[in-house]
Amino acid sequence: MFIRFAVTADLHFSGSITPDIALAVESAVAEANEVVFRRGVPADAPDEQIGRITEWHADGSVVTLRIESGPYTRAHDALFRFRKLIAPVLGRHRLGLREIAVRRFTVTVPGHVPDEAVPKVPFIREVVRHGESVELELACTAADLEDRVPDRIVRLIEEKKEAALFGGKAEHWELVYESQKRPRIYAGNPTEEMLARGWLRHGASRGQWIYAPQAVRLFRALEEIVVEEIIRPLGFVEMIFPKFVPWEVWIRSGHAKGVYPEIYYVSTPKTRDPAYWEDIADTFKVTGEVPVDRIRDRLDGPIGGMCYAQCPPFWPFVQGETLANDCLPIRVFDRSGTSHRYESGGIHGIERVDEFHRIEVLWLGTADQTVETADRLHEAYRRVFDDLLELEWRSAKVTPWFMAQEGLVGESASADIGTRDYEAYLPYSDSWLEFQNVSVNGDKYPKGFTVKIQSGADCWSGCSGIGLERWTAAFLAQKGLEPAAWPEAVIRRVGEMPEIFRFL
Ligand code: ATP
Ligand code: ZN
Ligand code: MG
Ligand code: MG
Ligand code: MG
Repeated sequence: MFIRFAVTADLHFSGSITPDIALAVESAVAEANEVVFRRGVPADAPDEQIGRITEWHADGSVVTLRIESGPYTRAHDALFRFRKLIAPVLGRHRLGLREIAVRRFTVTVPGHVPDEAVPKVPFIREVVRHGESVELELACTAADLEDRVPDRIVRLIEEKKEAALFGGKAEHWELVYESQKRPRIYAGNPTEEMLARGWLRHGASRGQWIYAPQAVRLFRALEEIVVEEIIRPLGFVEMIFPKFVPWEVWIRSGHAKGVYPEIYYVSTPKTRDPAYWEDIADTFKVTGEVPVDRIRDRLDGPIGGMCYAQCPPFWPFVQGETLANDCLPIRVFDRSGTSHRYESGGIHGIERVDEFHRIEVLWLGTADQTVETADRLHEAYRRVFDDLLELEWRSAKVTPWFMAQEGLVGESASADIGTRDYEAYLPYSDSWLEFQNVSVNGDKYPKGFTVKIQSGADCWSGCSGIGLERWTAAFLAQKGLEPAAWPEAVIRRVGEMPEIFRFL
């Protein structure tokens, strides 16, 4: 069983296909089947798996072809190879190719394809099941075929089949390191106690907190540890990455393949002409309500969304560039703003919010430099969590974040590429919380944004997202809110807790 493609297409020429021209077409068909369609095909590929014109006829100025294939020189590729072959042949008879009209295109995918693995895209006109395979009729123009739409649909079906198989199972998770157990000195839910002590209050929006000086003092103490113990010794330098991300970036980063349910979308006014908006403002002045439905009609976009993963909007900085050997590895970080995710009903305490604060560490260089940087980060983190914060934590190899965010499951193809999650034990809920990760992303981003290295070596990159809310939640859940019980490295940096509000 192998994948099959079949296309029936009309080639419209600028004049009649006379009998002597038909002879020329006939010999072009033979040359296509015997020579042109076999180019690039492995020598041991079975004949029935290679693209072949199985029928053709001429009628007036139209040549109709039927091409069938297996996985090699797929029917649609064969069609365009034939176009290239026939154009000069008929040119000699003063005939030009005006148009290719696709009458019918089918792809037959072998094996069981569950309903949920059939993509919901307008190209799929009909789905017919034959025993253990499924035949899709695609509504594709010649331009769609040339743009390889069928190949992308087939790849998507494979991904969806794998996801459906994976469905019931837990996410890929493989323990790498486990710290020593720590004495249980606190069993409370830190968010509740922070609220009770006035260290934070709910923001006006969902999943958003207003952090009071006490919480911020702790955030900054943890951030200082990150900077002094990890970022500075490893030579990372601060940059500021944008926090609004247009589609162009997510198309290249791959996020356009998957993050739609969690995006905070951004739209812009159709015009900034005050007259265009005057009635909206007037309505509010009279009713005290913002007329949201009418505003929606006056917006362009969404033109993108708020920062989701922190590193994609960095990449336009190096897009299309060749990096000098002697500036590598590049090591930078960003802590310039919030990240936003629509977490829906999953919102919980400070650990799962819609608006969060994260330090993103990013590096790029050769494969060796990238893996070495990740290893050094792992060492530095381990020292911080074991020796300075005295946490009970573990790390595990998981599905790479860039795959997860494209809706993919499983593991990366190479052992050097992937994501390691860091998790901390939460005594109050007897569960483990992912509080940060470290990823080697291979050449995915340099490829997506066409970044090269002077030496010609493959460019790789890595990143690590340090969630401040998650660090704080993990730390307080294990240590409690009494600074006296905290490790010295934190006490020293927090100092006296600021108490500035008094509510009557
Ligand atoms: P989870 O599995 O908990 O949903 P994630 O795998 O979606 O997290 P990543 O995309 O790996 O998260 O983001 C990197 C880091 O950003 C996380 O390890 C965490 O520290 C932080 N983070 C992600 N989502 C949130 C959130 N909703 N609230 C607070 N921090 C978050
Ligand atoms: Zn990243
Ligand atoms: Mg998540
Ligand atoms: Mg993650
Ligand atoms: Mg996760």
